[in-house]
Amino acid sequence: MLEETIFDIAICGAGPAGATCALALKNAGLQVVMIDKATFPRDKICGDAVSSITKRVLRQIDPSYETELLQFESKASITQAKLYSPNFESLEISFAKIGHCIKRIDFDNWLFHLALRENKELKVISGIGIKDVVQDENFSISLEDGRCIKSKLMIACDGAHSVAAKKIAKIKVDRKHYSGAVRQYYEGVSGLSGNALEVYFLKDFLPGYFWIFPLPNNQANVGFGMLSDTIAKNKIDLKKSLQHIIKDIPQVAERFKNATPLEDIKGFGLPLGSKKYKIAGKQYMLCGDAAALIDPFSGEGIETAMESGKFAAEQAIKCFQEKDFSEAFMMAYEQRVYNKMWPNFRNHYWLQKLLGDRKWLINGLISFGNIPFVKKQIPKVFY
Ligand SMILES: Cc1cc2nc3c(=O)[nH]c(=O)nc-3n(C[C@H](O)[C@H](O)[C@H](O)COP(=O)(O)OP(=O)(O)OC[C@H]3O[C@@H](n4cnc5c(N)ncnc54)[C@H](O)[C@@H]3O)c2cc1C
Repeated sequence: MLEETIFDIAICGAGPAGATCALALKNAGLQVVMIDKATFPRDKICGDAVSSITKRVLRQIDPSYETELLQFESKASITQAKLYSPNFESLEISFAKIGHCIKRIDFDNWLFHLALRENKELKVISGIGIKDVVQDENFSISLEDGRCIKSKLMIACDGAHSVAAKKIAKIKVDRKHYSGAVRQYYEGVSGLSGNALEVYFLKDFLPGYFWIFPLPNNQANVGFGMLSDTIAKNKIDLKKSLQHIIKDIPQVAERFKNATPLEDIKGFGLPLGSKKYKIAGKQYMLCGDAAALIDPFSGEGIETAMESGKFAAEQAIKCFQEKDFSEAFMMAYEQRVYNKMWPNFRNHYWLQKLLGDRKWLINGLISFGNIPFVKKQIPKVFY
């Protein structure tokens, strides 16, 4: 009986952070349970841009996982970003490494089943949400169906609205370090190159950006996001903004003349990595969105979710080897995450602040970036 077992590890949430954590715990000889309120396959509102770093994380766990991902049929291979300034000058940036656009319903389902296949010890509870998490000698995780799961270690991977992050780590939404964004799938957007992420800095929608990301089968992931602080201060309705951009901005509207929306507009929050939180403590670690690890400029969080999930698994293995679950020991995880990710988060936060709604600056930088010598020097921005 699951309720009577005290698991070594409970992973709360089976998105990219949770599934990667479970994957990296294969062969660890630990009793692991992973709980997700959704039944897979499930959608996740996202831009679907899966960066090349996700392949590196998979490769580090097992090189065959990257090969499996590359065999994925429903993906677009991304080799460049096209940035559009408020005056519609474009700048093309080529990526050194190929990334992909894969609908999250497919990507997350693949990763979830990979973890299930590879981690033979893994028990999964899906389709039942976590209601509460209580820390005592062990963790007690109450589920919506009345069951209570106990574990020695708890790894919170339950996303932007993490129950455990709120309850155990006392993390509260800080709008200055949080974004809101909306997404709508489309078919038949004209002029899609098939291999470029299109990012538009539109003059009446700053600070923030509108995106068109290509998907297979002539589909595209279309969306718009902004800092939550700006949304609240200016009472911005993101869904209306997206409709307005697509209908009324001539350069954009032209592309959508013969396009069909495949769903209603859907929105979700992005906890940004521009503020450090306490993401580890006695017997627990937070990963991915639960730990606020989204890039504050690009909005990418899949790669950091996966990498933090892997780091948490490695730390968990050490905890059981050393029989040390103390706060001091768990801090090694927090330090490893921030040592790796903070420099990028900090730089991208300042880039986000610097650009803000300064149209002249974005126009100027994109023109400057188009000078051939400068273009060659442009460092990694999105990948
Ligand atoms: C509009 C938008 C666009 C984005 N675009 C991109 C992009 O293009 N590229 C990119 O890299 N990142 C993007 N992101 C960020 C990215 O979606 C997240 O950073 C990423 O999903 C984090 O993974 P995660 O595993 O931490 O959380 P999630 O993917 O959110 O997974 C959390 C899991 O926990 C489960 N869960 C939640 N609550 C409970 C509960 N109470 N009980 C049990 N289970 C629970 C959920 O069902 C889910 O399966 C975008 C985000 C948004 C909102």
